[in-house]
Amino acid sequence: MARILIVEDNAANMKLTVLLVTNAGHTPMCAIDAETGLMLARSDHPDLILMDVQLPGMDGLAATELLKSDPTTASIPVIALTAMAMKDDEKKSQRAGCDAYIAKPLRYRELHQAIDELLAATGEHAPSTTSASDTGPQ
Ligand code: MN
Repeated sequence: MARILIVEDNAANMKLTVLLVTNAGHTPMCAIDAETGLMLARSDHPDLILMDVQLPGMDGLAATELLKSDPTTASIPVIALTAMAMKDDEKKSQRAGCDAYIAKPLRYRELHQAIDELLAATGEHAPSTTSASDTGPQ
């Protein structure tokens, strides 16, 4: 189980994403704009971030650049969520530092797989939970 920060301004999309994250066995945290998302990322250090690209004010890519340039949040994987399935958007999200990219509408299997892959990749870095270090000999 992971704590997943969802940054999404659209209420219907937020509701769906919360449902998908919860069904996958994870704990959702919600922010409806980039500024709140950045604040929560820094204070609560989620295991992964689902970042809507189109947000009011600061957009999701600018927010991701800030997260990736800040040592306290740089290691948190970010999955960009965009309504525009354009090649250019995918390149932009990679340049901004996003670890993965998913075009909306979200599909459970695709989202679940992307989350699992990124969590597995970062799991090697021994997260600040107690479980990982207690399993093997020192
Ligand atoms: Mn949006």
